[in-house]
Amino acid sequence: MQTFRTKFQALSQLTVLDVQKVFITGTLPVGLEEAFFREMSLPSHTIVLRAPSHQLNISYHIVGYSKKNSEPISLISAAIRLLNRHHFLDGRKIIILCPNISLADRIANRLGPCAISHSNRPEGTKDEKERLWFEGHYDIMVATNGFSQGVDAPNVGLVIYVDHGYGLINIIQGMGRAARDGNRAIGLYFRNLDASGYPTKSHNDYECLEDAQRWLETKQCRRLILSEVMDGRAQSCTDLDAVPCDICSPDDPITQGTKLLF
Ligand SMILES: [Zn+2]
Repeated sequence: MQTFRTKFQALSQLTVLDVQKVFITGTLPVGLEEAFFREMSLPSHTIVLRAPSHQLNISYHIVGYSKKNSEPISLISAAIRLLNRHHFLDGRKIIILCPNISLADRIANRLGPCAISHSNRPEGTKDEKERLWFEGHYDIMVATNGFSQGVDAPNVGLVIYVDHGYGLINIIQGMGRAARDGNRAIGLYFRNLDASGYPTKSHNDYECLEDAQRWLETKQCRRLILSEVMDGRAQSCTDLDAVPCDICSPDDPITQGTKLLF
């Protein structure tokens, strides 16, 4: 089957070219450097330059829910109302990332005016809706997880993952669409407690599935796992003087409000 991974591996054929090569990525976990070298047939003396990947202005929040008691659409609507009450979203954009097309369609249909983007949209409408969202004609974008890659809108104040992302790298990328204007933003993950969660580690856990599960279940600062995986050094919100995650700010009105959503 042709997948993103299959196509990516085809790049390794470039390594036979006798020219200088520079690889640039924002999301290569320290623990996957060796695998990357192997996949790209890079020599051991390849120079690696790393910068910290912290997103200091994003506040990470996780809310568990059961479909017996709540539906994602009602949680999303309640979260937006909560943040609006705190004037957190004034003039700022929202991205809602869904694991599949049918859920994205269902949410968009019930949410009211919003843009929608996924691979099954009629010809031309996907690009048009994305343009309208970028230009501010819509506040909300509902999309599948592909939208998490490389979107650079300056004023996204809230990114919501509706269970689940494709692993920790995908979650970091998706939530990293927020706070690009330098202001505080929220990365909110609705975790379906009825689902089995991320699979345990496979031989090549390139998506960091097991790390995503640890991140969901941790009782400690969420940044510890993000920084440990991405930068090889576990650092908390306090260590980094970053806006606190939900665990580091239990008394924050937004943290308290999100805990009451379910
Ligand atoms: Zn924290």
